[in-house]
Amino acid sequence: MPVAKISPKRTPMSEQPADKRRHNFDEVPYGYTPEQAMAEAQRCLQCKKPSCVSGCPVQVDIPGFIREVAQGNFLEAVKIMKRTNVLPAICGRVCPQEVQCEGACILGKKMEPVAIGNLERFIADWEATQPECVMCEIQPATGKKVAVVGAGPAGLTIAGDMRKLGHSVTIFEALHKPGGVLMYGIPEFRLPKAVVEREVNFLLSMGVELKLDYVVGKLKTIDELLGEYDAVFVGTGAGLPLFMGIPGENSLGIYSANEYLTRSNLMKAYLFPKYDTPIVRGKQVAVIGGGNVAMDAARTALRLGAERVVLIYRRSRDEMPARAAEIHHAEEEGVEFQLLTNPVRYIADEQGWVKEVECLRMELGEPDASGRRRPVPVPNSEFRIPVDTVVVAIGNSPNPLIPQTTPGLETTKRGTLLVDPNTGKTTKKGVFAGGDIVTGAATVILAMGAGRVAAKAMDEFLRTGQW
Ligand SMILES: Cc1cc2nc3c(=O)[nH]c(=O)nc-3n(C[C@H](O)[C@H](O)[C@H](O)COP(=O)(O)OP(=O)(O)OC[C@H]3O[C@@H](n4cnc5c(N)ncnc54)[C@H](O)[C@@H]3O)c2cc1C
Ligand code: SF4
Repeated sequence: MPVAKISPKRTPMSEQPADKRRHNFDEVPYGYTPEQAMAEAQRCLQCKKPSCVSGCPVQVDIPGFIREVAQGNFLEAVKIMKRTNVLPAICGRVCPQEVQCEGACILGKKMEPVAIGNLERFIADWEATQPECVMCEIQPATGKKVAVVGAGPAGLTIAGDMRKLGHSVTIFEALHKPGGVLMYGIPEFRLPKAVVEREVNFLLSMGVELKLDYVVGKLKTIDELLGEYDAVFVGTGAGLPLFMGIPGENSLGIYSANEYLTRSNLMKAYLFPKYDTPIVRGKQVAVIGGGNVAMDAARTALRLGAERVVLIYRRSRDEMPARAAEIHHAEEEGVEFQLLTNPVRYIADEQGWVKEVECLRMELGEPDASGRRRPVPVPNSEFRIPVDTVVVAIGNSPNPLIPQTTPGLETTKRGTLLVDPNTGKTTKKGVFAGGDIVTGAATVILAMGAGRVAAKAMDEFLRTGQW
C-alpha cells in the first residue's frame, strides 16, 4: 500500500469521559469496533523485515495477525496470536507498547505508529464474544510433570507453553485468585478482573492444574516439589513493598501501594457494602512515586472518594517511569502532580494519625547509574501538604521466602534469583525462574518473555536430562 494513502494518525479509541470515570471503577477505554480495527489494521505496511516483532519480548507475528484483521478474518488473527501469546487481552491493555512493538514500528518514523496494542486487545475481546474459544494444539503426553510456583504472567506463560509441549503442569499460587499483579495490583478500571479470569480459564481448559491458597516455602518446599515433579519454575514476583525509612512513616493512614491496591482490587473494598473489606477512604491523599503503581494508587484513591489526590515525585515529568497514557489519564481525572518534590517526614496528630507530609523541593543534577538525572534537594525549600492518607509506591523487591527455604538457590545482592538469562536456569538443578523474582519489578511482557525462554530450556532438560 503506498504510504501517501495511509492516515498519519492512528484510529482513536473512545473512552469514558474523565469527570464520569473518576467516580467509578469501570474500564476507561471502550475498545475498537470491528470497523475501527480493520481501518487501523489497514495502516500497517506489512514490512518484509518487521521491526515491530523484534520489539516484542514474546515475538508475536504482528504483521501476520494484523493482515488478517485488515481483511476481517478475526478468527485467523486469534489463531496467529495464540501461537506465541496466551494472554493477548492482558497485553493489549497493559503492555508498554509505546516503547516496545509500537516504538519500533516503521510507520512511527514519519507518522503515528500502528496501534498494535489496540488491535491485540480487539481480537482478544472479539474472541471472548464467540461461542467457543480457539484451542491450542497440544502435543502427545510426555509423562513428565512440571510444577510452577506463582500464577502471575511469568508462571501462566510457562504453564501454557509446557502444556502445549505435552507435559503435565500444576501451578501453585499463594493467593486465593490466580493472576499475580494482574489480579491484585492493576485496578479494574485499567484491567477488568473478568479479562484476567478469562485468560486463566483458557489455560485451565488446556488441562493445566491450579492449586490456590498454596504458599510454597510453607506448605511444601522447592526440594519437596522436586521429589514429586521433574522440574520446577519459580515465578513468585516482587511483592515486598519498599518504604523510604523517613521519620513518621509508621503513622496511621500510611499504606504501601501493595496493601492499598490489594485491599481495593483483590479484596474488593471498592464494592462496599457488598464486600466489607476495610480501607481508609481518605479525603486528602498523597501518593509517593511516579511509576504505573503510583498512577494506579492515585486514580484508585480518587475513585474511593478522595477530594484531593497529590502525587509526589522527586524528578520531573520527563523522567516518570509510568506509561504516558496513564499519566495523561491521571491528569485528566484531576490527580495533582507535585513534581521535583520529595517527602522528608510525616507529622501525625495526637492519635498517631498522619496529618501532614513535609517535603523538599528538588532540582535535577547529573545523570545517575539509572541514566536519569539525579534529584538534588534545594536547601531551605521545606513545605507541608495536609493529608489524612498516604500511599507509598516507590518500588518492590522479591519476597525472600523461597530463597530462604531452598538450599542451593543463589540470589543477587538485590535479593533477586540468579539465573542464566538465556535459559532461566537457576543455580539449582531442575529449578528454573523468571519474571520479577529475577529482574526486580519490571513489566508483564518481560515476565511473559522470561516464562517463554524458560519453557524452551525446561522442555530440553526434560527430554534430554542434561542440565
Ligand atoms: C500496581 C501495578 C501496576 C502495574 N502496571 C503495569 C503495566 O501497566 N504494564 C506492565 O507491563 N506492567 C505493570 N506492572 C508490573 C507487572 O505487573 C509485573 O512486572 C508482572 O506482574 C510480573 O509478573 P510475575 O509473574 O513475575 O509476578 P507477579 O505478577 O507478582 O506474580 C507472582 C505470583 O506468585 C505468587 N507467589 C508469591 N510467592 C509465592 C509462594 N511462596 N508460593 C506460591 N505463590 C507465590 C504471588 O501471589 C503472585 O500471584 C504493574 C505492577 C503493579 C504492582
Ligand atoms: S513495523 Fe509497523 S508497519 Fe511494519 S509490519 Fe510492524 S506494525 Fe506493520
